Amino acid sequence: MNPKRLLTVLAGAASAICWVVAGWAQATDPAPLIEQDDALKISDRVYVILDDRRRYIPNVGIVIGDRATMVIDPGLGLANGEIVLGEARKLSDNDEFYVVSTHYHSEHDLGAGAFPEDATMIRSRDQQHDIEEFRMSHAERFAQRTEALANLLEGAYFRPADVFFDDEYSVDLGGVTVQMYAVGPAHTRGDTVFFVEEDRVLFTGDVAMRRYPRLASPSSGVAVWLKALDAIQSLDVDVVVPSHGPLGDATVIDAYEEYFATIQARVGELKTQGLSADEVVERLTSELVPRLSDWRENGTAMIDSSVRSAFDEAP
Ligand SMILES: [Zn+2]
Repeated sequence: MNPKRLLTVLAGAASAICWVVAGWAQATDPAPLIEQDDALKISDRVYVILDDRRRYIPNVGIVIGDRATMVIDPGLGLANGEIVLGEARKLSDNDEFYVVSTHYHSEHDLGAGAFPEDATMIRSRDQQHDIEEFRMSHAERFAQRTEALANLLEGAYFRPADVFFDDEYSVDLGGVTVQMYAVGPAHTRGDTVFFVEEDRVLFTGDVAMRRYPRLASPSSGVAVWLKALDAIQSLDVDVVVPSHGPLGDATVIDAYEEYFATIQARVGELKTQGLSADEVVERLTSELVPRLSDWRENGTAMIDSSVRSAFDEAP
């Protein structure tokens, strides 16, 4: 065999091995299941099952009142929803359940169907609008990634809402009140945050986290995201529970505000100076990345989409 031909054969074999390994990894990928017996009590009435930085798992909130329990983000698919329901039952004898999600994305919402038939699902009209527009497209993208995800999503559906609200809505669970605000569009049009008033705990969804923000919807944008942050900055918050990643305090919200406000201001200046969108992206990426070293995941791509959005919005 001539050397060139041998190299081609070797390259082919290496690539075949890669495919086999990738296929094997995919087939044996464990299902992303929410941790059991791991609920963390973060205040008098609020528990969180942390995502432990695992993909396809949200931080799940469980708020326990004297009369009823509210679950925030019941997880990806019915199996996860059942785990969350089981955990909620371990924490209290309440038989009355409310289920809500921070937004319609699969790992936040599609466990709701596992809750008892008489549980009350509450959605903002904007969240419902997202569901009607995008339907199961997000779940289908996940299901194509691994067999485990496809299995988890089998039979999953958007639990129909029993209650709709426009801007805000309040539920008294007995001795503890959850105030919900439709603050989107930010990450999605239907972003909803949940404020446990007595304990001053705010579930921010993907609207404020300790990682790069993702403009995930055609209705996302820098100006609208700043408006959402402005709305929640007025709340007197002790603990911020983002829908992914570590807990924090009000500085988590302030950091997002600073990020988007900086992008908006710098894009305005640089666009006025005649720089192109590509040039502005390059400039701001090099300015921002070193300042955000504690934020996880794909900063360059996330900054790119935020800057382009601000560029389009700037005069
Ligand atoms: Zn999301």
